Amino acid sequence: MTFSQLGISTELIKELSNQGITAPYPIQEKAIPAILKQRDVLGIAQTGSGKTASYALPILMKLKGKTATKTRDVNTLVLVPTRELAVQVGEVFTSLSKSLSYAVKTMSVFGGVSINPQMKGMYGVNVLVATPGRLLELLENKALYISNVETLVLDEADKMLNLGFKEEMNSIFRLLPSLRQNLLFSATLSPEVLSIERVLLNNPETIKIQSAETNIELITQTGYFVTEENKGPLLRKLINDNKMNQVLIFTSSTKEADKVSDKLHNNGISSRAIHSKKTQGNRQESLALFKKGKLQTLVATDLLSRGIDIEFLPFVVNYELPRSPKDFIHRIGRTGRADNPGEAITFVTEEDKHHFKVIQKKMKRWVDMVDTAEWRDL
Ligand code: AMP
Repeated sequence: MTFSQLGISTELIKELSNQGITAPYPIQEKAIPAILKQRDVLGIAQTGSGKTASYALPILMKLKGKTATKTRDVNTLVLVPTRELAVQVGEVFTSLSKSLSYAVKTMSVFGGVSINPQMKGMYGVNVLVATPGRLLELLENKALYISNVETLVLDEADKMLNLGFKEEMNSIFRLLPSLRQNLLFSATLSPEVLSIERVLLNNPETIKIQSAETNIELITQTGYFVTEENKGPLLRKLINDNKMNQVLIFTSSTKEADKVSDKLHNNGISSRAIHSKKTQGNRQESLALFKKGKLQTLVATDLLSRGIDIEFLPFVVNYELPRSPKDFIHRIGRTGRADNPGEAITFVTEEDKHHFKVIQKKMKRWVDMVDTAEWRDL
């Protein structure tokens, strides 16, 4: 599936590709067509699933021809629980709007900071991302009007309810027009979320995305204590001994990705590197070869890994650790699937030991470790 098949415009696809996003995530495959068709959507998905783009992209598409507002009427209202999410979601809209042929003004508002600049900035805003409390304050001050909102998004609805925003949310709903599109995203489907869902959504398309975190239960994980100089020989030994024929290898830099790939290639293991410094054509070609099984190994950086849309991979190797535990889970999450459990291998140097502990703690799983110090054949 491609973004173009989902109905996303070429200008947005170009911007996505600038950001290293080349293929839709599952939630985007399902949500984008439904939102473009004007359906209400209930999305059960967590942060990291790509849920923000799953609604930002179709909303930006729908804003074409409607963006020249010289008023304080917002078109799209995104309610979020926290300041951090308000900023993050605002950034997604702003960055995606960058190369549009029509202007979309997005603003993020939240409490804990002065309200005056927010009141002044509201003129001509199309997309408002707001925490409920501050939105109500702004409404009381007549800084904006929401009676013409066409699309309402509740992002992390469960968190909003957990933080005690129910009353504020209800006050906001009463000010919205009855005819509008509603998109509700939540990590869990708690009774509270269901109660909101029932009053708010009209015959929604329900989308449930299993997170990478749930998949990791199915993955066999092994860690190898190894020195930096033995990583190459260890990688080749594991590939050869275990007859691995489709391995995705992660490095943390483009330079290292090239180095690892070249070394494999020189040792008779077919390989290509895939990262942001390669041309779009080259990346697509590498990916296609890898998917077809014509390339034994693909060496990728994290940025690119997010765009690698391979349904199932038998082996993932962390040649270098990623900085964030989230990226680690994301990397290995590509291998575990219910009917097809995979294997994730992680190389850990002396300097990595502490960081790998942090990662294991975050993923709530301890990985069996093998010490290669005494291995004579490396
Ligand atoms: P979210 O779940 O919306 O917080 O998104 C998680 C991360 O995934 C963000 O850093 C996005 O930039 C990234 N992302 C979203 N969609 C895609 C995609 N289709 N391919 C690669 N990365 C993506």
